[in-house]
Amino acid sequence: MLSVKDAETIIFNLVQPLQYPQDTEVVDLSSENRILATPITSQLDFPHWDNSAMDGYAVRYADVQQATKDKPVYLEIVEEIQGGYQPQSNIQQGQAARIFTGAVMPKGADTVVMQEESRRESDRVIILNAPKYQEFVRHQGSYYQAGSQLLPVGIRLNAPEIAVLAAVQCPRVNVYRKPKIAILSTGDELVTPNQPLKPGQIVDSNQYALAALVRQMGIEPLIMGIIPDDKEALQQAIDSSISHADIVLSSGGVSVGEYDYVEKIITHLQGQIHVHAVAMKPGKPLTVTTFKRNNRPVLYFGLPGNPVSALVTFWRFVQPAIAKLSGVVDGWQPQFVNAVATRDLHGAGKRETYLWGKLSLVDGMYQFHLAGGNHSSGNLINLAQTNALAVIRLGENLIAAGDAVKVLKIGNY
Ligand code: AMP
Ligand code: MG
Repeated sequence: MLSVKDAETIIFNLVQPLQYPQDTEVVDLSSENRILATPITSQLDFPHWDNSAMDGYAVRYADVQQATKDKPVYLEIVEEIQGGYQPQSNIQQGQAARIFTGAVMPKGADTVVMQEESRRESDRVIILNAPKYQEFVRHQGSYYQAGSQLLPVGIRLNAPEIAVLAAVQCPRVNVYRKPKIAILSTGDELVTPNQPLKPGQIVDSNQYALAALVRQMGIEPLIMGIIPDDKEALQQAIDSSISHADIVLSSGGVSVGEYDYVEKIITHLQGQIHVHAVAMKPGKPLTVTTFKRNNRPVLYFGLPGNPVSALVTFWRFVQPAIAKLSGVVDGWQPQFVNAVATRDLHGAGKRETYLWGKLSLVDGMYQFHLAGGNHSSGNLINLAQTNALAVIRLGENLIAAGDAVKVLKIGNY
């Protein structure tokens, strides 16, 4: 059986990120959560022109460098420059311009005296303190010069990036298309939440949970519904899913039982199985397969049916795989932090163990609080309100309360 580390290496190497230009589209700049497919280069200097960082007076440094409270300097105000206007004057010796934050510096002036260091007397200003040379002037191109790259390929567009796109007048932007992700549930015992339960039936919760996780990544999944444990129906559903999607997620039917048909069907459909089982708890039965469809690679995850196992394997392997496929260059990998365990954490020894709970920050240090109740892979109830999985490494049986533990953050990708 593969270790989690080996399975991770295999799975993440199987992911072929979407490609430029065939997997890209042009969207409006306000489309947050999309992945940039071409770099953004500025045609302009930032700032665009020398401007004032303060409300005050634009002056010639040479005029005011000796100014003190006792020996103030008097300057004649020749212009008032508001934001959005082109100054008309050329400041001469003994002159100043009233200027506001962001307004363009007039010719001749090299320094701004802030309003608080001055006093106004009708059309004169009295400078009470010598400024530093060029103080409060934001020089053209001092942040970025025309031609420099502002946003690289592979970043997610959120508020700061969208602000940059707006500032560089890029109303339409090239992004990767959203990956297509199909989700199907397998099992004769499954019913939808609105159906009355007959003896032996259970509600298909995996479909809803997996769909919610995919939607949180900004992708609307393709819902294939519940497929009974019937070879033909299942083969048809899998075949149709791999024809339409980049990634297919099924849950259930990957164990060793008589009705666990998924692997047989995959083989029949000429899928190449790369992962069959992983030494982790929960999540041991996990099938990872690649198909080639219409010259496109398709990645198939046969997730375990047990609700917690399905979600844990999603967080550990599928979520990073989707992020990598989406074109994210940095930060698609699972995010681990170190925390202090607040209770004893028991591992399964032969399998890497994932225990669900809550991560909190106390005085800048992470603490991991184990969820109460049964940590069985079938018990999804106490998964609610958790945001992290503590990892007990292979061969480790106990992490004692107060000791450090590695924790996988879940949610917020
Ligand atoms: P299986 O891997 O198909 O043997 O399923 C393992 C366990 O997970 C069984 O108890 C199933 O009833 C349960 N299960 C399978 N699929 C789902 C699902 N979509 N939602 C909730 N539980 C499921
Ligand atoms: Mg089943």
